[in-house]
Amino acid sequence: RTVYVNGDYLPEGDAKVSIFDRGFLMADGVYEVTSVLDGKLIDFDGHVKRLWRSLAELEMTCPVSEAELLAMHRELVARNGIDQGMIYLQVTRGNPGDRSFVFPPADLPGTIVAFTQNIPNLADAPAAKTGFKVITIPDLRWSRVDIKTVQLLYPSMGKMAAKKAGVDDSWFTDEDGAVTEGTSNNAYIVKGNRIITRQLGNDILHGITRAAVLRFAEEAQFEVEERAFTAAEAQGADEAFSTAASIFVMPVVEVDGKPVGSGKPGPVAVRLREIYLDEMRKAAI
Ligand code: PLP
Repeated sequence: RTVYVNGDYLPEGDAKVSIFDRGFLMADGVYEVTSVLDGKLIDFDGHVKRLWRSLAELEMTCPVSEAELLAMHRELVARNGIDQGMIYLQVTRGNPGDRSFVFPPADLPGTIVAFTQNIPNLADAPAAKTGFKVITIPDLRWSRVDIKTVQLLYPSMGKMAAKKAGVDDSWFTDEDGAVTEGTSNNAYIVKGNRIITRQLGNDILHGITRAAVLRFAEEAQFEVEERAFTAAEAQGADEAFSTAASIFVMPVVEVDGKPVGSGKPGPVAVRLREIYLDEMRKAAI
């Protein structure tokens, strides 16, 4: 696989980053994941805009321009012959000196790396046909998860908790018992013609897929309600689903051991997945 490091395209085994990099020592960095379908980038614009926001919130700058980012993503897709898959992009604050809690001067360039993952069946993943089963666990992440940092230990522990419980994912719940989001996706329930998902704030990532799906839902005459819901409300809903760049719209068929609706992927989630894939494929660049 050919990967990208600070302007160079290299075989993955030759890529090097300093052990003093603050991304490595302090999780001082941000990332984006963009899907590739038909060799094209899905919602690249949305991902770049969010990357810029994450960087600004942390007083960081991107070592390359938006145009260079696009060219680099396309180059990686081409060099690795990706038809379906993902591109992972990470920008860290770098570090020219000794380990220190103080940020290095803002004009020193950070570290930028990117790599592809080839996933030939991304659009028709078997999991989309059966749906995800989820458990809920307390949301013990820091309070600025709207910034897409590489600090993913707790989400990773959430995935492990799900795995140990024999299910696919964990949904996090806040102190009031309301669902914030999944380990790496936004969470929704469906009641009749209404799609309910938590309102934007510092306690969820502002999903790029979420924004697109809510837009398509409104265009398809669904009502969209942005508010918190509990696991109990999800269990009693007609349907549930999760969204993320890597899973698009994923039906959720079980919450904490109880089936949601029929216990099978629901018609609304299935339809939104189809609309999302159709529309985003058309708009891919
Ligand atoms: N929420 C969290 C915590 C995530 O990590 C992700 C994606 O990685 C999402 C939501 C979904 O965001 P997007 O649709 O932009 O992929």
